Amino acid sequence: MFVLVINSGSSSVKYRLYDIASGSAVTHGVAARIGEVGSYLEIHGTDGGTRRTQQVVATHAQALELILAALVRPAPGAPLASLAEIGAVGHRAVHGGDAFVESVQITDDVIAEMERCVPLAPLHNPPNLMGMREARRLLPGVPQVAVFDTAFHQSMPPEAYTYALPGRWRREHHLRRYGFHGTSYRYVCGRAGAMLARPLSELRMVVCHLGNGCSMVAVKHGRAVDTSMGFTPMEGLVMGTRSGDVDPGIVLHLTRGLQMTAAEVDHLLNQESGLLGLSEVSNDMRVITERAEAGDEGCRLALDVFTYRARKYVGAYAAAMGGIDTLVFTGGIGENSATVRHMVCTRLAFLGIALDDTANRSACGVEADISGPGASVRVLVVPTDEERMIAMDTIALGIRSVPAAGDP
Ligand code: AMP
Repeated sequence: MFVLVINSGSSSVKYRLYDIASGSAVTHGVAARIGEVGSYLEIHGTDGGTRRTQQVVATHAQALELILAALVRPAPGAPLASLAEIGAVGHRAVHGGDAFVESVQITDDVIAEMERCVPLAPLHNPPNLMGMREARRLLPGVPQVAVFDTAFHQSMPPEAYTYALPGRWRREHHLRRYGFHGTSYRYVCGRAGAMLARPLSELRMVVCHLGNGCSMVAVKHGRAVDTSMGFTPMEGLVMGTRSGDVDPGIVLHLTRGLQMTAAEVDHLLNQESGLLGLSEVSNDMRVITERAEAGDEGCRLALDVFTYRARKYVGAYAAAMGGIDTLVFTGGIGENSATVRHMVCTRLAFLGIALDDTANRSACGVEADISGPGASVRVLVVPTDEERMIAMDTIALGIRSVPAAGDP
């Protein structure tokens, strides 16, 4: 039996198929540029080959149909004899509002509740919903599970999730901190506990997810108690192209003073800011680090602002939990950049944080303990794997055991 994990985004549908018996991913791929010129299907087959075929992928429905066809022999590199071998489907779901505190089997009621969350995530929930609807249509009778990015953060206390806005507005418009990257955090916390051979219930952990999107979470005794992303994924840390925290007065100044439209401000803060806006060169930390070392002042500033903001949040979350014993780095930057990890941890010795420089330099995309000798805080690098977490939740919520007669 196999579990299919689907991440249905605005212009792409990514998938990964797991063999439940071995626990390993056997194939993955993406239908990309859906509805655009140059759409294609890319498949990493079981034979180790990667095949990219340019073809019209006009809708998410068509994307799912092409993906399912590519999973079944005689399609080249296909692992399945028939779709009846798919025991369950797990879907990435970005926003579950405050309705979902954990992963759930998808029913009509779940779809309706996710639709109510569309105004909270207008770019993400509609394509997520399209993927769910199409997978239910194409694989009838196969259990489908929604795994929410927001669910992990529902354990935050009111003082952490409440904005100091008038009550009526908060209640009527659901204005509160939700937090994102929750699926990644659950996976990473689990791995960190395993690496330390300690139960999460004993730990006060800060996890830094530093990728193109960046966020941080404080996890006290296994429960999220604060996180840096808020009502939207714009708040908090400096990101690739997103500003993170800014004075809301700047938004007023841009709209009222400079007559910018909401769409223009949206673009400025989401697409032109962050590392890209600071460096005026790139949103890629590899480029920024290299150029900063070569003396580029903008890149140096980008690196300084990025790591200073992250360091401030580590301090804030240590205060929120009354201490810290584990600091974890994940995400494309967190997993790979020794420079960023070093700069974030600088001046945190007062919290018991110190790095082993050799271990830090050699930790690149692998699980590693990079704590300095004698440091009271264990500093870990943990590569994240959201798809595996989605597959694990999906299996836990139940797969169909015996394919019914007449199943696809
Ligand atoms: P993610 O969104 O988690 O896939 O992270 C993507 C980002 O990770 C890229 O935009 C790069 O900035 C960053 N990244 C990937 N590899 C490295 C590396 N070796 N050093 C520094 N940054 C990296």
